[in-house]
Amino acid sequence: MQHEWDAIVVGGGPAGLSAALLLGRARRRVLLCDSGEHRNDRAVAMHGFLTRDGIPPGELRRLAREELRAYPGVQVADRRVLEAACAEAGFTVRLEGEEAPLHSRRLLLATGMVDELPDLPGLDVLWGRTVWHCPYCDGYERRDQPLAVYGEGRLGVKMALEVRSWSHDLVLCTGGSRIEAKDRRRLAELGIGLREERVVALEQEAGELRALRFADGSLLPRRGLFLAAPQRQRCELAERLGCQRTRKGMIRAGHDGSTEVPGLYVAGDASPHVQLAIVAAAQGSMAAFALNAELLREDLHAERRPLAAAPD
Ligand SMILES: Cc1cc2nc3c(=O)[nH]c(=O)nc-3n(C[C@H](O)[C@H](O)[C@H](O)COP(=O)(O)OP(=O)(O)OC[C@H]3O[C@@H](n4cnc5c(N)ncnc54)[C@H](O)[C@@H]3O)c2cc1C
Repeated sequence: MQHEWDAIVVGGGPAGLSAALLLGRARRRVLLCDSGEHRNDRAVAMHGFLTRDGIPPGELRRLAREELRAYPGVQVADRRVLEAACAEAGFTVRLEGEEAPLHSRRLLLATGMVDELPDLPGLDVLWGRTVWHCPYCDGYERRDQPLAVYGEGRLGVKMALEVRSWSHDLVLCTGGSRIEAKDRRRLAELGIGLREERVVALEQEAGELRALRFADGSLLPRRGLFLAAPQRQRCELAERLGCQRTRKGMIRAGHDGSTEVPGLYVAGDASPHVQLAIVAAAQGSMAAFALNAELLREDLHAERRPLAAAPD
């Protein structure tokens, strides 16, 4: 593998793929590294991506990789980035299974987030099929159907208020946590049901949610469930390089993905923006654009030659 790169992009989801595409078109030498742990791997369809509404997420990535093949400057390595460090004129990056470190003038992290799912028997089969985290992504297909929201405290209440736009037949399950009296009143005013007992299992049939089972054995029949689950960064590279996190755990970055570490960019779910695939792709492009503009300034500066003295 070549050892000198203009940019190394870490992450092969919509953000990283889109960044690699723009950098390839800018005729940069780009290495895209992907450990193959995409956040929406379990989703059967991806919605809200213009011209690709309902596409299986893996198919979007396959199409994107196919497009990248048209650009000779772009190389894809299905490897994890183990380490990255600031170095002279850029970064050194170490890949799994690669002895020698690589050098890159710029580094773009599009490493995504992990949903911290509750320990609910039955959830594993249903996650991404009839249990989701985002009503914008999957609410429309279950509109006006009996739905539930599962989430503790304010997180659960906020999501229940949001999901109500998709169905009025809605119950908030707090998993055993209690909510404040004012939230209880607000839910009652809106006709949102409330169950504060512990949920012990999700009952399914052929991969479809049928009901939530409570500790006393009672069942709440539902056709879909939205989880208000906390999240964490998928990898720690940004922190190790000196980036700060926002209150919500995202990597602090400017509008164009630039971070407080010179030459380091971030895009997609890992950065502080709306978490949608099309937004991640757009952020990938924005970060690639800003990163390339920096490289261009550097290149133009390096190429400047002193002018010959003007004749008198
Ligand atoms: C169940 C579910 C359903 C969803 N449905 C929708 C939907 O319908 N519509 C929609 O718009 N959004 C949907 N989303 C959200 C969508 O998945 C994310 O917004 C999107 O994937 C973010 O893209 P990303 O590129 O930032 O991160 P990801 O797609 O998560 O990609 C991160 C990439 O980084 C790689 N990576 C991480 N660390 C390393 C490392 N150290 N070395 C190498 N590679 C690394 C991973 O392998 C992965 O390729 C859904 C999410 C979930 C969980």
